[in-house]
Amino acid sequence: MINFNKPYLTGKETHYIYQAVDSKKLSGNGMFTKKCHAYFETNYNFHKTLLTTSCTDALEMAALLIDIEQGDEVIMPSYTFVSTSNAFVLRGAKIVFADSYPDQPNVDPACLEALITPKTKAIVVVHYAGVACDMDAIMDIANKHNLLVVEDAAQAVDSFYKGKPLGGIGHLSAFSFHETKNIISGEGGMLVVNDKRYADRSEIIWEKGTNRSAFFRGEVDKYGWVDIGSSFLPSEIIAAFLFAQLENLADIQDRRRAIWDRYYNGLKPLAEKGHFDLPVIPDYATNNAHMFYLVLPNLTKRQSFIKYLRSKEIHAVFHYLSLHKSPYYQDKHSGLELPNCDRFADCLVRLPFYYELADEQIDYIIEQITNACNA
Ligand SMILES: *Cc1c(COP(=O)(O)O)cnc(C)c1O
Repeated sequence: MINFNKPYLTGKETHYIYQAVDSKKLSGNGMFTKKCHAYFETNYNFHKTLLTTSCTDALEMAALLIDIEQGDEVIMPSYTFVSTSNAFVLRGAKIVFADSYPDQPNVDPACLEALITPKTKAIVVVHYAGVACDMDAIMDIANKHNLLVVEDAAQAVDSFYKGKPLGGIGHLSAFSFHETKNIISGEGGMLVVNDKRYADRSEIIWEKGTNRSAFFRGEVDKYGWVDIGSSFLPSEIIAAFLFAQLENLADIQDRRRAIWDRYYNGLKPLAEKGHFDLPVIPDYATNNAHMFYLVLPNLTKRQSFIKYLRSKEIHAVFHYLSLHKSPYYQDKHSGLELPNCDRFADCLVRLPFYYELADEQIDYIIEQITNACNA
């Protein structure tokens, strides 16, 4: 069976974990956490970064930081993972779901303004497959209406919009290092604070509502409970694992882009014959090769396609059921139709994608897809 995902280990992970263990500093915010923060702040010019135990946690921190209160409205795409909306629902927000573009799953900025009301507080964008949303258009709308922008950059490590790193454009951003992402630590994530107004408070929320970080830097002579917060920071063991991955980021990205290109070139002739659509990468966006997906003509064809690949020992998957139609949210949704979102929910399929996927395996997958289309 060719698996859908296989976590890639660079080889240094256990070495650094051993170092963390040996240093007898196991809780959070130690040497490896600081190395990871420095890596992102130096290489991507992020103002402030805080490792978290997941992207879900980083999104929850964002909701706390922007003071989401009961009844506030938050606009986001319906075609996303539940954590994007859960984080804000936990604070009492009403989620207003927006549609995707017709030709790609990212939110279509053209549909945003009609959704803004006096209660709207923030727009959350998701860079699906690591491909940038049109951030100039989104920031313009947000600035015009005095709204905050949170980037769900879970899939977007090392990807860019007009030369700017994703995660560095909105007021706040969240990354994931879950084992299905490009750079991993099992479970893991990171909050990025781009708007300096949130920098001090982000550390407090991260440290259970205390000013412990400032205390350890010698900025205050005692630390105590100063705000709400939670335990969002990962242990040094997780940070040590992550640092090994970061040191190999360039190599990981190179291999992933080569896999992506091989799929793309191999499947292009079938797309040209109309069997499915291939991913669209606008001129303003880079490709960080987070995933490779196809969009089949309809749900029935998508399901039989997945079944066919299964019979050939290839594990392809679909994902994101429209959140506006979910059992939890359908009664709370306005009833607005989101046809592009529904189409991706019905028709999108993700092909196996991981660092160690061999060229021969990719060629085998392309061959089986070709057979399926010609059957
Ligand atoms: C993976 C993912 C998340 C959740 O990340 P965790 O680290 O597992 O919490 C959130 N949003 C999107 C778009 C994702 O792809």
